Amino acid sequence: MVIPENILAQCHMHGVEAYPEETCGFIVGNREDQDSLETVLPMRNIMNELHEEDPEQYPRTARDGYMIDPREQMILERSLKKEGKEIKVIYHSHPDVGAYFSEKDKEDAMWNGKARYPGVTFLVCATTKGKPDGAILADFNENSGDFDITPVLPDSSSTSAGLVGGTYGVTGILPTIKFIHEWKNGNRQLEHGYFRFVPPRQVRDLQQELSARSNGRHALVYCSGRTALFELLVYLRESRPQTNLHFSINSTFLSESLHNLEIPCHLLDIENLIEPENLSAKQGDVLLLEMKDPETFLRKESEWFGNLKRLRVPVIIFAACPPDFEVWPGGLTYWVSNIKTPDSSSDISGIEGGVILSSADRQIAELTEIRKRNGPILSARNAAVFLEFFLENKIDLKHISVLSGIENRQKVSSTESLISQRLCEWEHASSGFLFPSGMSAIFAVLNLLRKKEKPQVIVIGLLYSESYTLLMDSGLSSNWEAIFLGLAELERLPEILSDKTAMIITETITNPLGEVPDLEKIGNIANSFGVPFVVDSTLASPANCQPMDYGVDYVIHSTTKYLSGSNDHGGGVVLVKSNEDALALENFQKYWGLTISPLESVVLLECMQDFEERMERFNTNGTAIAKFLSEHSAVAHVYHASLPSHSSFSTAKKLLSGIGGVVSFTLKDESEEGLQNFHDKDFSAILKAPTLGSNQTLICPYPMLTHYFDTDQELEEIKLPRHLIRIAAGCEKDLAPILGDLNGALLRTIR
Ligand code: PLP
Repeated sequence: MVIPENILAQCHMHGVEAYPEETCGFIVGNREDQDSLETVLPMRNIMNELHEEDPEQYPRTARDGYMIDPREQMILERSLKKEGKEIKVIYHSHPDVGAYFSEKDKEDAMWNGKARYPGVTFLVCATTKGKPDGAILADFNENSGDFDITPVLPDSSSTSAGLVGGTYGVTGILPTIKFIHEWKNGNRQLEHGYFRFVPPRQVRDLQQELSARSNGRHALVYCSGRTALFELLVYLRESRPQTNLHFSINSTFLSESLHNLEIPCHLLDIENLIEPENLSAKQGDVLLLEMKDPETFLRKESEWFGNLKRLRVPVIIFAACPPDFEVWPGGLTYWVSNIKTPDSSSDISGIEGGVILSSADRQIAELTEIRKRNGPILSARNAAVFLEFFLENKIDLKHISVLSGIENRQKVSSTESLISQRLCEWEHASSGFLFPSGMSAIFAVLNLLRKKEKPQVIVIGLLYSESYTLLMDSGLSSNWEAIFLGLAELERLPEILSDKTAMIITETITNPLGEVPDLEKIGNIANSFGVPFVVDSTLASPANCQPMDYGVDYVIHSTTKYLSGSNDHGGGVVLVKSNEDALALENFQKYWGLTISPLESVVLLECMQDFEERMERFNTNGTAIAKFLSEHSAVAHVYHASLPSHSSFSTAKKLLSGIGGVVSFTLKDESEEGLQNFHDKDFSAILKAPTLGSNQTLICPYPMLTHYFDTDQELEEIKLPRHLIRIAAGCEKDLAPILGDLNGALLRTIR
């Protein structure tokens, strides 16, 4: 067996992370393809727990033993089976004892003299003094009745695309430039990608399960039922010249919040149904019916639904639960539901999500794109919990509350408030609100501040590409306007500001060119004009800058990045200064149902424990890599504000205490061949994946991922070289292997 380089690197990385304890997990691949090794899935090593419970039966601890959590394994195997995948390799690490297959390993791998897992290979990765130190493979040999041991040979021609971050990983490997071209041109689907763009396996499985149960063609899941409903209503509002919403709703909170959507609303009498002939698609009529027992109603009124279908008037049912029966009358366009685990179920009570079920192909495809942009995604962890419940039929679908669980949030609020307390201390803010993703946090602030009477947003510098898309693509039916100013054009700001300006938005450090806008200057102007000042501070992190000290009103972070660092968490946060802003944001978050999963907040809080220490290393590593590159003969230009040659060097000195790990650069060989020569090398310590703030150093040809279809002129306008390479330095203690990797790849570009 040949282990792809990226896969082996991930197994080693988990060994290093768990050091001085043992880690364990699986490499999974396609059932039909004997050689396929696609994804590394670390599992929970429960050895310490077993030892604590029964030291006599389990004398070992995680320091010298491993036991994969059987429950986690069972759930995984079930979902792999549905996907046509299987476990190909079981791996574990050996801290400080070298790479060998021990007698205990052998004993665990056999049963009655035969292989316990026929066809499965064992991989042992040695971790010596916290560093990777070789690996071996062990395969059961039927003839000898023993294991054949071979040293691991990494595959130098690896093109496999793996998941980064384990079971709930948030990004995927993009192994070659050719692979990226194929994906961008629609000739290759990504199995794993950045979590907001390529739904994680658990989310895909849940959507499949729900659509199969509901008799509709599609299921699209969201962070809550209310979000699902609101995303749909706004989509309908935006995709037609006019919308008239006729609704019958029981909950006051929901009917009150509908008014925030700026859609003309009319009450519908469910006892005395409106004649279909009085409705028309042309005048934008849409029906929304919230009901506790839709089944009877749907059966009784099938003729009414049929007439609405003929008139092409969309009908939405907002119901307590996804249907587990075959009711899909002609005319019903959308079924929107809340999904929630029962409150009684101990540690996972009140886990929630939402779903839109529909057979409308085009509309669901468009809603999927909007979900990527707005970011109200369902956590893969929640999806895994729901799947388990659905598959074991533990959830009685009829008894899931239609309310979005706001009342249950009290229980998880302690984790959330610990997170926001800590962030408020770091950022000098007064309140913090957690969201399902960074984009969802940006979406909330943008939609809270931008109104009909204040349609204008002023953007300073280059925004994250999706924030730009959100700004430009949403609100098509409104008179939204965005004005873009370069960092050197700040003197124009006072003349542009008007009573139509909703907000000024910028980023503390821009991505990927590392520019640093003068927050102090902008803050002074914004404050004197009374215009809200919003900053996405993801690239600076709370450790390197406190934008509120310079007059910023809203600070946003994608917690998916530095704050978690582990590549297995997705989330976002908005921090505010004034109580008035906090109240408005709290209400917005509530009525949209944009809340973070309690499971994600637990992971985030855990990761945040050593955030400050990690951030110091991100800063030193970023600076060291920038210096190394700037002195390399194969490099043309380096973008990192620690370098005196960078245009933001002095502003960064004034505002930032560290520059972070994002370092971009261009090669002297500007051609695509040059990029390919660099990128397609087999790195041993660096992973080729998008995202930043990851504890492990990542690399990607950034503009190829975010601006692939832009013309040369468009790229020129934003000063983005097409073949720019972005390194997201990790917080590794030893930078030598990373610099070694970079040097090797750079030398390949010199002809
Ligand atoms: N802001 C910045 C600067 C980012 O780089 C990103 C993601 O890359 C986001 C916001 C969006 O965060 P998320 O991916 O958590 O939605």
